[in-house]
Amino acid sequence: MNDKPAIVWLREDFRLADNAALTAATQTGAPLLLVHIRPERPSGMTAVDWFREKTLAHFNAGLQSLSGKVHVFTGDSARLLPEIVARIGAAAVFWNRRYDPIGREIDAGLKREFAACGTEAHSFAGALFHEPWTVKNRAGQPFKIFSAYWRAACEAGSPGPPLPAPREFKFFAGSITGAQEQQLSWPAWTSSLDAYHEFGEAAAQDRLARFVADDLGHYEDERDFPDRDATSGLSPYLRVGQITPRQVWNAVSDAPGGLAHAAARAKFLAELGWRDFAWSVLWEHPGLADHALREEFEDLPWRSDPSGLEAWKRGRTGYPLVDAGMRELWRSGVMHNRVRMVAASFLVKHLLIDWRLGEQWFAETLVDYDPASNALNWQWCAGTGADSAPFFRIMNPVLQSRKFDPSGAYIRRWVPELKSASDKHIHAPWESPDARPANYPLPIVDHAAARRRALAAWDGVRGGDRQS
Ligand SMILES: Cc1cc2nc3c(=O)[nH]c(=O)nc-3n(C[C@H](O)[C@H](O)[C@H](O)COP(=O)(O)OP(=O)(O)OC[C@H]3O[C@@H](n4cnc5c(N)ncnc54)[C@H](O)[C@@H]3O)c2cc1C
Repeated sequence: MNDKPAIVWLREDFRLADNAALTAATQTGAPLLLVHIRPERPSGMTAVDWFREKTLAHFNAGLQSLSGKVHVFTGDSARLLPEIVARIGAAAVFWNRRYDPIGREIDAGLKREFAACGTEAHSFAGALFHEPWTVKNRAGQPFKIFSAYWRAACEAGSPGPPLPAPREFKFFAGSITGAQEQQLSWPAWTSSLDAYHEFGEAAAQDRLARFVADDLGHYEDERDFPDRDATSGLSPYLRVGQITPRQVWNAVSDAPGGLAHAAARAKFLAELGWRDFAWSVLWEHPGLADHALREEFEDLPWRSDPSGLEAWKRGRTGYPLVDAGMRELWRSGVMHNRVRMVAASFLVKHLLIDWRLGEQWFAETLVDYDPASNALNWQWCAGTGADSAPFFRIMNPVLQSRKFDPSGAYIRRWVPELKSASDKHIHAPWESPDARPANYPLPIVDHAAARRRALAAWDGVRGGDRQS
């Protein structure tokens, strides 16, 4: 239909299947230029940047067999995209929508600019079950509570079948200046990450298929146990768009197991619902990572404790479950959800360190770092969010460890100093009558004293009203 080229601007959607922007662009018949614009990174690469770059390299390698490639540029997309459009004389630009405060502003500005100069700009949904502004209560207001949100989201219907990958591609064959070959130098700290991750659409689909076949049935019962590998492991793939929630929904809904697995299926899909909910909250509160949703918490007297913060980041707090989680994070770029909760709670309540510092560390080190889920979950753990665990519920890291890692297998995997500790004492090695491993620290804070300190700080904010 069209001789003028079209641009598909890929951002967090490195996949061929269920990619609405790519499918729509191929349907025009125009020769396609696939473009990715990475921002300048003056403060260096984060773990999710690493995962995205590796994914892009993998995606590009796969495109070779189709005689295509993604042209990668670095800089300000608001300036570069119109330049690329002008350089190749593109008639249209296609992209899948993003919802972070900065991205959505850039995209809205580009749409206005393209409209003014007669370039078509088409955007599509695809990263969520529901666009973040669409699920509202009867009064037309956004939900503050997850359970009500998810009920309404489910009533709005299932997401429908995913799109197949386009069968044929016609790529733009002209020359294009300014694109870079993808030769990046990886920071030294990323070297340990490779061993824990596979990249690509096929790897993501394989992971989903294995989860559905082997683990979905006991997801509800086992998802809280960090040594059991009972969760899907899909979060990094969802983050950079190698798989879509719609694909996951359909695979899970079609899974065998009938009624016997109905509860596990519902629980798993509700966890994905939290991801959507987080984006709907971020949509309403663009400052979610910077400001407590419950304003009274802005007055909480957070402590300045650089050495405590450093001990937490490095997994040297003396609380084995917290340390195992923080070391898992540093080495692999992920951390089990239950342990994320315990580690976050420890920072905020035992050390009384501002939740924002923890949020930032996770933002730098998680390969699945998601601005909405991370901020919402940190506010949930800190008790500062609308639908959060109350601040006065203080997780005991030793009891959590005994309950969810009873044999200490997870701790042994990440804290080698405790490899030969007994099952009984591995959760609190300082209580062991045997010699404590010399190279493992004593607790940097006493649980009971830390609890009292946190409750006193909270009482100061809440005027002692512990029922709210
Ligand atoms: C302090 C803290 C910070 C977090 N930061 C992030 C983050 O930056 N990015 C991120 O994707 N998740 C975050 N989570 C949520 C959760 O820990 C991860 O999504 C989960 O561990 C990923 O593993 P999985 O894919 O095996 O999860 P599964 O249990 O298999 O769940 C399936 C999917 O549901 C979604 N999901 C599950 N739990 C949550 C949740 N609590 N909130 C939002 N979505 C959820 C994820 O997309 C996940 O891949 C955070 C949790 C906490 C407590």
